[in-house]
Amino acid sequence: MIQQRTLKSLTRAVGVGLHSGQRVELTLRPAAPDTGIVFRRVDLPEPVDIPVSADSVSDTRLASTISAQGATVHTIEHLMSACAGLGLDNLYVDITAEEVPILDGSAASFVYLLQSAGIVLQDAPKRFIRVLQPVEIRQGEGKNAKWARLDPYHGYKLSFEIEFDHPAVNATGQRVEFDFGSGQYAREIARARTFGFTRDVEMMRANGLALGGGLDNAIVMDDVKVLNADGLRYQDEFVKHKILDAIGDLYIVGKPLLAAYSAYRSGHALNNLLLRELLSRPEAYEVVSFEQAAKAPRGFAEPVAAW
Ligand SMILES: [Zn+2]
Repeated sequence: MIQQRTLKSLTRAVGVGLHSGQRVELTLRPAAPDTGIVFRRVDLPEPVDIPVSADSVSDTRLASTISAQGATVHTIEHLMSACAGLGLDNLYVDITAEEVPILDGSAASFVYLLQSAGIVLQDAPKRFIRVLQPVEIRQGEGKNAKWARLDPYHGYKLSFEIEFDHPAVNATGQRVEFDFGSGQYAREIARARTFGFTRDVEMMRANGLALGGGLDNAIVMDDVKVLNADGLRYQDEFVKHKILDAIGDLYIVGKPLLAAYSAYRSGHALNNLLLRELLSRPEAYEVVSFEQAAKAPRGFAEPVAAW
C-alpha cells in the first residue's frame, strides 16, 4: 500500500514575510492521518485553524492566500510546493503572523527543514486525485492570452512556458518540463527563487507591499540585468520558479494529482481557477489509492525515503 506521510518530529523556522516585512515564527508539527495540511494562527486571542483546500483560497493577486473564520495566511505556495515535493500528506503549520516567511525566496529552505525533522509513513492509504478528462482555463486574447490545463496522465508531470520581454529573462530558457517520476524535485526545482523588477518593487513598496523583499530572498532585475552578485542558481531559474509555484498552488487541492499539467503565462489566480473547475466537474476526476505499490506511477511507488 502507498501510505500517507507526516513529520517525525516538530521543527521551527523564523523569518520575515515577503510583502508584510513582518517577523514570523513557523512551527511545523506532525498530524494524524487524513488531517491534510492545516495552518493555525497561534497569535490570535483564540487560535484559528485554516485547513488548506481549493475553497480556502481567498486572494491570488500576488501570492496564494487562504482564509477561514476571518483569519488569513498569505504566501503559502512555496511551503506547499515543498510538501508536495516530499509527499507530505498531513501537517500542522503554527504561524505567528499572517504571512509565511519568505526565507531564501525558494522552496529549498522548507525542503531542508522538513527533511531534517524526518518523514514517517502512516497507517492509512495515500489518496490521489486522478484526472479523467481534460480541464482548461483560458483568459485573454492574442498577446494577452494565458491558460492552464490538466490532462489525464498516469503520473504527474508539468510543463510551463513564460514570456517575459526582458533582456535577462530572454537570455534564459522560458519553457520547462518536469516529471515527478524523475525524483528530482529537491535538486531541479526547489532551489528556484522568486523574481521581481526594481521598477515594480518601487511601486509595490509605495503601496505597502514587498517590504520584506531584497537580494537575499529574490532575483532582482533592473531594466537590463540581474542585480544579484551571484547570478542565477539554474540557467532557467525564472521558469523553474513558475513550476515551483504551480506545484504549490495545485497541492492546495489537498491530494497529489495524477495528471499532466501544462500552462502558458499562468499564475496563482489561474491555477486556483483550474482546481475549482476540476472540482466542479465530478466526472472529470476520481480519488484513488494504491493497495499494491507496484501499480502506482513511477516516483510515487518509491517516493522520497522515509526515515
Ligand atoms: Zn513563488
